Amino acid sequence: MRVSDLLRLPAGPVDLHRFDPAATPGFKGGKQRARKAVPELGDRLATLQEQLYAEGRLGGRRSVLLVLQGLDTSGKGGTVRHVVGLVNPAGVHVASFGVPTPEEREHDFLWRIRRELPRPGRIGVFDRSHYEDVVTVRVLDLIDERTWRHRYDAINLFEERLVADGTRVVKCFLHISPDTQRKRLLARLDDPTKHWKFSPHDLDTRERWDEYFTAYADALERCSPDEAPWHVVPSDHKWYRNWAITNILIEQLETMGLHWPEPDFDVEEQRARLLGMP
Ligand code: ATP
Repeated sequence: MRVSDLLRLPAGPVDLHRFDPAATPGFKGGKQRARKAVPELGDRLATLQEQLYAEGRLGGRRSVLLVLQGLDTSGKGGTVRHVVGLVNPAGVHVASFGVPTPEEREHDFLWRIRRELPRPGRIGVFDRSHYEDVVTVRVLDLIDERTWRHRYDAINLFEERLVADGTRVVKCFLHISPDTQRKRLLARLDDPTKHWKFSPHDLDTRERWDEYFTAYADALERCSPDEAPWHVVPSDHKWYRNWAITNILIEQLETMGLHWPEPDFDVEEQRARLLGMP
């Protein structure tokens, strides 16, 4: 069974507590085996990405958007590094979304998102996304309920149009346990080279763990249509998270029917011409 299918959010009410963050669906073995699988997966992903890029260079409209959401230390940044590390960075566009700037606040919540969408032929990676605008704003009570509730429909419409315009939308929720987060935050405090990654705000967020889980559960449930479903990626094991997301990307690219573009010139003619040159 494909990893995309194994981790795809089932239809119906969502309770994130029912997903085991330390599970490793579809993978037999441990860290060492997962690491050994990386070069082969990387080659496959790199080839598919190059085919997508080539298609874009020749006028194709299609692209891929990987949306990463999850609580602090769930590994969004690590996933970005891993994925980008496997492919030609020239074909990838990474965007991170923090607290909206004054300029961003003046616009509709999707304004800053639209500006960072991948161009044809590219893989876009969102480290946080428009889902902050239905999760964080709700938990921190930044806007009224009526407004964020309306945003579910706005997001569904936005993604539906994106898909219709040729973007494959791949959404991954990086699911970790409170214990894992504690360990990772402690590791940041224990290591002076990681202090910059820590923010006291991370602890405020941790205090509201259940509220975040409820808000995420609702967002995932309301915004997971067949064309752009969510995947719940168990992320207590970094090696599994990377393995799973790489596989999901590969599987999604494989269903796009990519191939090397036909040349718009006569190969033999060009070869003869080249060989005839001094
Ligand atoms: P990360 O935790 O993702 O590594 P970071 O700690 O370096 O990021 P930033 O990327 O600057 O911080 O910002 C992330 C913060 O911005 C998070 O606390 C997130 O909830 C908040 N944020 C993102 N989008 C919004 C939004 N639309 N409204 C309010 N807060 C938001």
